[in-house]
Amino acid sequence: MKRTTSFLLFLVISLQLCSLVVAQSDYTERIKEIIPQNQVEFNIYFLAADEFLGRDTGSNELDIASRYIATWFQTKGIGMVPGHDSYFQNVPFQRFFSPEEASFAAGDSVFILNQDFVAMNSVRGELDAEIIFLEYASRTELNEVDVEGKIVVAEAGLPGQTSPQQLFSTSQQKIEWAAEAGAAGLVELFTNPQFPWQFLVNFLGGERIAVMDNETGEETDIPHLWLNSVRHNLKPHFNTVSGTMASLSVLGPESEKFYSRNVVGFIEGTDDNLKHEHILLSAHYDHIGVVSNHLEPITSEYIYNGARDNAVGTAGVLAAAKYFSKHPPKRSVIFAAWTGEERGLLGSGYFAENPMIPLEQIVYNLNIDGAGYNDTTKVTVIGLGRTEADDEMMLAADSFGLEAIADPVPEQNLFDRSDNVQFARRGIPAPTYSMGLTAFDDEINYYYHQVTDEPHTLNYEYITAYIRSFVLAAQKIADRAEAPFWLPGDVYEQAGIELFGRER
Ligand SMILES: [Zn+2]
Repeated sequence: MKRTTSFLLFLVISLQLCSLVVAQSDYTERIKEIIPQNQVEFNIYFLAADEFLGRDTGSNELDIASRYIATWFQTKGIGMVPGHDSYFQNVPFQRFFSPEEASFAAGDSVFILNQDFVAMNSVRGELDAEIIFLEYASRTELNEVDVEGKIVVAEAGLPGQTSPQQLFSTSQQKIEWAAEAGAAGLVELFTNPQFPWQFLVNFLGGERIAVMDNETGEETDIPHLWLNSVRHNLKPHFNTVSGTMASLSVLGPESEKFYSRNVVGFIEGTDDNLKHEHILLSAHYDHIGVVSNHLEPITSEYIYNGARDNAVGTAGVLAAAKYFSKHPPKRSVIFAAWTGEERGLLGSGYFAENPMIPLEQIVYNLNIDGAGYNDTTKVTVIGLGRTEADDEMMLAADSFGLEAIADPVPEQNLFDRSDNVQFARRGIPAPTYSMGLTAFDDEINYYYHQVTDEPHTLNYEYITAYIRSFVLAAQKIADRAEAPFWLPGDVYEQAGIELFGRER
């Protein structure tokens, strides 16, 4: 009896294993068939071509790349997100330029742009107005005194809020309060010695872009300066000149508004219950443009092609779209190509703030991005060991002869440096599936954010296996009985508990 039972059990288990093995290699074979190497090559060669001029955010070339991705979705049978009539999510951006010329004179002191002050917004103009010196220009102070038509000078930050981050955040509030109170300008005295002044100058110098944080993108229309008061304490000076006239001028190009696009496709899951849960497969398709001080004409040697970073990942999402349109998994899948990653994870951040599907219905984000590879036997999963989908990713890699390894350079904090973090910090388990990287060595640095990152330098046999394993990992996660969650104790676990209303 015992023997029979165990023999039967053995038989049953063997049969199950067999069927698992068959199903497994079925998946592998069918992925190989649907994702041929020459198509992977085609997509990478195309997207990383010189004509895209490094796919800079806001460039017409990036828009053409977005059209290519959308057309791919369309012709492969990928739908639009329900309730939307486009594959594009327009992301409103604003481009800021540093002033060409600016000056600030108060009492017998004349302050010099960059050396003594920086412009915190892109308001342009010239004005002569009376100075009023306040302690912090807190909301209370601004309500108590008449600042109408005056240049308010005050210490940066607010009482008890003087860390660099707080200086920035309070600065945003204070300029709005000052404008509401009718001030003609706001000058903050910057006194934080831990924050290098030159860093601020570099950050605000040249050109930078940001997502518009309100609908109109209008800034307050009064000038806003930070004045370096670290080496010379300027408080006594402004105390003395309070009530006298000062002149301030900031000249140069004004900010520009523009749009760039996230490209988003959708396919419904096959399981009546699980289809309400979504797996987000994402890759940024932008890169860093051309060498900033290039000579004309722009030849190949000035173009950051971004083959590894991230034409490869984009090709991965395109491959996944093609595969899943033929074999939709149980859960629904969102395919996303993000803009603005290289400028600060901006496109993904906009989507996370303005999700086309409620975030609590996105149960997992498998992102595909990376710095490059130095080991063609590996897949480096940034976030292996942090979510419940380790087995799925390791098995998927193994099915294509690769070994999935965890982040070898945790000190580089790669997890928080790609688009996945926009979702992770809102609670969605979100690793990044990267090419085989075992260290930040010469091989990586030779290509990473360099003009050498060109499509002809890739090993396509490896890249194809890597992309196929990404698709298989996605399939396994999308078919999993339970959505994989954060492993206990992860820094983003609590956010996940809140987002999904889970009990722990
Ligand atoms: Zn990059």
